[in-house]
Amino acid sequence: MQTPGITVRPIISIDGCHHLNETFFDNVRVPVANLIGEEGSGWKVTKFLLNNEHATTADLPTLRRLQRQLRAMAASPARTRTLGDHHQFSLRLARCEAELQAISIMVQRVAALEEDHSPVAHAMGSMLKIRGTELQQEMGQFLVECLGDYGPVAYPSSHDGPRREPLPQEAVMRDIAAEMFFRRATTIYGGTSEIQRGIVAKSLFGF
Ligand SMILES: Cc1cc2nc3c(=O)[nH]c(=O)nc-3n(C[C@H](O)[C@H](O)[C@H](O)COP(=O)(O)OP(=O)(O)OC[C@H]3O[C@@H](n4cnc5c(N)ncnc54)[C@H](O)[C@@H]3O)c2cc1C
Repeated sequence: MQTPGITVRPIISIDGCHHLNETFFDNVRVPVANLIGEEGSGWKVTKFLLNNEHATTADLPTLRRLQRQLRAMAASPARTRTLGDHHQFSLRLARCEAELQAISIMVQRVAALEEDHSPVAHAMGSMLKIRGTELQQEMGQFLVECLGDYGPVAYPSSHDGPRREPLPQEAVMRDIAAEMFFRRATTIYGGTSEIQRGIVAKSLFGF
């Protein structure tokens, strides 16, 4: 990143945070000392790195945090009962948790395939990316739905006008809504779900 010609400009995403950059390479010369692997085998190195990226974007720690937030939400009062007492809530939470457990086992299987360049290893990384990112979106949306009418209202906007009375637990709600918006990107970045399905089809079935 210290090489002359590289410029990094921040991009602020929909959640108001800076986790993204625009990176420019103007006449950048890469010294031979920076060669990774053998000359001419860049695509092989890239595929290995991309497969690792696919597997890590399933983001098990985030899924576990969303699970903790949902469980905390289950204990919060909803009229005369807690949310967890509602059948629909419990059923949906149980489905998310079963899916999370399956992803956790898949992560272990992919980790066991480390250094493996086989088609199965490529397909597993992509499958993990699809299922992990879809679950992040499902759990994020579930959290916002639990907030009822307060979910979308609490999302910060530059058009908010004069400061109004804070809503109950507004700080927590704002984070949840903003995160749900950001998680829309997960099935796009690192290669879209359609591209991942293409990789699975090509790796496993030769299509
Ligand atoms: C928040 C965020 C962070 C990102 N970070 C990075 C980063 O750090 N580094 C980086 O290099 N890129 C990054 N990206 C870019 C990201 O990887 C691309 O946006 C993504 O791969 C989609 O490519 P595209 O936008 O060119 O869409 P396109 O390729 O134009 O695709 C448009 C639509 O067509 C579909 N499609 C395209 N090709 C096919 C096909 N062959 N079969 C079926 N459907 C297809 C796609 O799934 C998509 O729905 C980031 C994107 C986002 C949103």
